[in-house]
Amino acid sequence: MPFLILLLFSVLLVSPCGFAESRSTDELGARINLIFDRFNTIMEPAFTDDFILADVKLDPNYPRRFDEFSGDISGRFLGAVSLMSRGAEDDAQLRRLVAELLKHQREDGRFGDVKLSFAASDIGPDQMALLWGNGRLLVGLLEYYQHVPEQKEVLDASIRLGDFLIQVFNDCATPEVRERVRGKAANGFICFTQFNEGLELLCRATGDTKYRDAARKMEPLLEPRGEQHTHGYLTTLRGHMMIYESTGEPELLAAVEARFQDLMDSGFIMINGGLLEYFKPTYNRDEGCTEADFLRLCLQLYQATGKEMYLAQAETCLYNSFYANQFETGDFGHRCFDARGYMPHPGAARAWWCCTMHGLRAFRDVLDRVVTPKSGHPKDDGQPGIRINLLKEGRWSTNDMAVRIERIPESGLAYRITVEQAPNDFQTLSVRVPNWAESVTKTVLVDGKAISDAKAEVVSDENEDTLLKAYGRSTSHGRIWKAEDVMEVRLACGLHFVDRNNRTFGQDELPKEQSVEAAVFYGPWLLGVNAHTNPMFHGEPYVDNILLFDSKQATLAGISYEPQAGSLLNGPRLTLNYQHSGFPDNNQVVLQPVAEQTTHPQTTVSYWHLVKTVP
Ligand SMILES: [Zn+2]
Repeated sequence: MPFLILLLFSVLLVSPCGFAESRSTDELGARINLIFDRFNTIMEPAFTDDFILADVKLDPNYPRRFDEFSGDISGRFLGAVSLMSRGAEDDAQLRRLVAELLKHQREDGRFGDVKLSFAASDIGPDQMALLWGNGRLLVGLLEYYQHVPEQKEVLDASIRLGDFLIQVFNDCATPEVRERVRGKAANGFICFTQFNEGLELLCRATGDTKYRDAARKMEPLLEPRGEQHTHGYLTTLRGHMMIYESTGEPELLAAVEARFQDLMDSGFIMINGGLLEYFKPTYNRDEGCTEADFLRLCLQLYQATGKEMYLAQAETCLYNSFYANQFETGDFGHRCFDARGYMPHPGAARAWWCCTMHGLRAFRDVLDRVVTPKSGHPKDDGQPGIRINLLKEGRWSTNDMAVRIERIPESGLAYRITVEQAPNDFQTLSVRVPNWAESVTKTVLVDGKAISDAKAEVVSDENEDTLLKAYGRSTSHGRIWKAEDVMEVRLACGLHFVDRNNRTFGQDELPKEQSVEAAVFYGPWLLGVNAHTNPMFHGEPYVDNILLFDSKQATLAGISYEPQAGSLLNGPRLTLNYQHSGFPDNNQVVLQPVAEQTTHPQTTVSYWHLVKTVP
């Protein structure tokens, strides 16, 4: 991949400002706000205390869907809102919920139906439902405890719950029980194995390694993919990665990387970067929790290995399947597919019982990965500094350095990175060059002018992890960055196409005579035809519609890219001609990111099309 480097440098001196929380000001932040709006303004169902806590209160006068999964909503809500809290109002709600929730812990440490027997001979789907919810609740309690560490009673309750889970595990992880719950989907053995996440958090919180010892048994118990529930399967892999993050044992990482490779080889990763709800070839809907888990797992694997492949996969999932999964109400849930792409689900399947909270929780991990310290990264060269992994607009701080990232309002993908605060020693500012960029131009300015003694280099390795590194002046050990130093990065990207065999090719390889079936990408965005924008395109018969691409220059001229701050209509649009099956006239269609379906009620959004080039 060719890279062009141009160096300029800009420093505008202003007084340094204090540190603030990292925050996103682009689509990422708008989508987070949409979830909080859903919690606060939509009443069907309303996220009242009774609604959230129904799965631990089990009040016969307030039956709620899936309250037998005790802790599933309440735990996820506590965890996600704790880690994404916007301040005093959210914290007050959390404290109120926790105070009430703790009253409903049972004598043996569990939450939920006290009459359910956990003798090995009795274990079945009902027990599995309770275990699933209790596992999610242990995570939620400990994420709340990270947020409010002075509340020791929360740690005490978590210990009692963790001890209950270990007790149950020792009694019930037998071949006989596993056989009994085989094929029970969301009530299957993944209800056990997902404990590893909460048990690892409990080990970290208490220092007691008995919880980690139990947690590390889960991944080996996880059966091969089969037709399992993907959310439970991926959650178990995430939990195993968390143990690796604590201990650094290479065999733990190797086990997850092998499972990941198996997923990649299986064909279950869709072109939009996501997975369906089950590992079943004939299944036709996804689940927001699964997309959230896959995104989070890819980010974990990138952090652990530094391999570009994992971050590229995370980015494809984030921009496409994860974003597209979000409904206009802010909820995450289930989107439905046919052979061409998204189609309306019978009834809008907004999964307020899990996906809405799990989606919010995934945003925490994305925010934490936009900018990371160089130290501790597998590719760390020993020099202090930061890595910008994802060019997302907002203000980002890590260690003692803070930067502001803004889009430069011009065509193409251009970003201005402004240093807001930096320590008074040499630091390297590194920017990841995504694998979809065809070229990159970097501009570093001092007082608005190029500085000729600045250095920058593009560094690639065998995993195609490519970084722009900015050094200063006459040293290769970084630069003493000052507030309002500016670095500008311009990424050039063209269209690329992926066929059904996963072969990626450029526009110059499009056939002229016979059309081929392919998906169209611009940068990280999967472009589709959205019936909300193009109501006539999917008129019957449409399966043989052909998208017509002109010369490369003419096609690129059809791309408009003018994102507005905080808008979800934030990606590139491509206008081109197409031939509708059924009549020979030439027509026009607009391709847009599939994720933009969040802005309206569900409709058809196709992304597998016949394509060819026209002379
Ligand atoms: Zn879900």
